[in-house]
Amino acid sequence: MKFNPADRIQDLQYFGEFGGVNPSISDSSTYTFLSAKTMFDTFEGNADGCYLYSRHSSPSNLYLGEALAAMEGTETANVAASGMGAITPVLLQLCGAGDHIVSSRTIYGGTYAFLKNFTPKLGIETNFVDITKLAIVEKAITKNTKVLYCESVSNPLLEVADIKGLSALAKKYNLKLVVDNTFSPLSISPAKLGADVVCHSLTKFINGSSDTVGGVVCGTQEFINDLRNVNDGASMLLGSTMDSLRAASVLKNMRTLHIRMKQHSYNANYLADKFEKDGLKTVYPGLASHPSHKLFKSMMNKEYGFGGMLTIDVGSLEKANELMELMQHNNLGYLAVSLGFYKTLFSAPGSSTSSEIPEDEQKEMGLSDGLIRFSIGLDNNIERTYQMMKTCMKQVGVL
Ligand SMILES: *Cc1c(COP(=O)(O)O)cnc(C)c1O
Repeated sequence: MKFNPADRIQDLQYFGEFGGVNPSISDSSTYTFLSAKTMFDTFEGNADGCYLYSRHSSPSNLYLGEALAAMEGTETANVAASGMGAITPVLLQLCGAGDHIVSSRTIYGGTYAFLKNFTPKLGIETNFVDITKLAIVEKAITKNTKVLYCESVSNPLLEVADIKGLSALAKKYNLKLVVDNTFSPLSISPAKLGADVVCHSLTKFINGSSDTVGGVVCGTQEFINDLRNVNDGASMLLGSTMDSLRAASVLKNMRTLHIRMKQHSYNANYLADKFEKDGLKTVYPGLASHPSHKLFKSMMNKEYGFGGMLTIDVGSLEKANELMELMQHNNLGYLAVSLGFYKTLFSAPGSSTSSEIPEDEQKEMGLSDGLIRFSIGLDNNIERTYQMMKTCMKQVGVL
């Protein structure tokens, strides 16, 4: 049977300690041992199923991790306190002084800043390339390269990575392919397409209620064990651990992820279609005009659609700001960064989430001043929303 991420989540069954329909929340930072010998074995990593200390692992975090591993089709997963708290240990685990990373140039601003400004201090260098051009990616690989890094659908330009093609390159040069799948949970399953490690910011669609930050790394048991190793594991030692109460809360929100993703995708597709027909410069992977529309189609788990993110270019930052303020005033969404909320969120990435990227580089990658990034919400009547947005666009002279 074809891999279906939501079915796999549904097939997991957890009960609470007293027969509760939700797993019990384990609210402890430390755990007792019946014998000193078991404590020693646990430290050595030889006592499966025993808990030691909650920075290492905790039952609630393992439950959430297993649900996310089921979704991505990896052996296991490790949750973290934030998306950055998941991504940065992965890169530091895989690379040390003298190593090299080839990364997509259109990635989340925080990840970009980490690779551009922070890891060079540790002797790790990164080349940023146009990830949609495999020949350019291959050319950037050196004898020191350890990692290929990309987002399946990039932030904010919605470029689509050819995960199968990148995976073939990773195998050829013995590299690890690390994919941030934050923009396309359920829609794309990177590990099934050959990614070695899949990361998410749970802060976005997966939790979906904009009430916490969180992250996850999905991968092989061996790699996750490495991250958690008490002696040299980057997740264990850098300490970006999710709290148990929050892990339990995120797991409950995950129960509706498939329903939400379908609605986000439906609404975004509807608006993108209309905006494009109205003559607005619109980018959405579901549009036939998107340069990677066919590629996305070839990779996707069809029923979850092309995702909830779209961009339009209204020409200038002034117009973008005017339009966003007016839409917020009319309760069509919030002028806010982040994504995956029930309500539409919009921001101008050039001056917000991607402001870490220098202006000349923004230009080169096609990130223009007038770009507005939308995370389309779960609106019940998207035709009504469209009409109201159109009125705003006419009022500010964008249409
Ligand atoms: C938000 C985001 C991150 C960072 O996640 P946090 O939870 O904010 O730390 C990483 N990658 C992408 C694509 C994101 O959108």
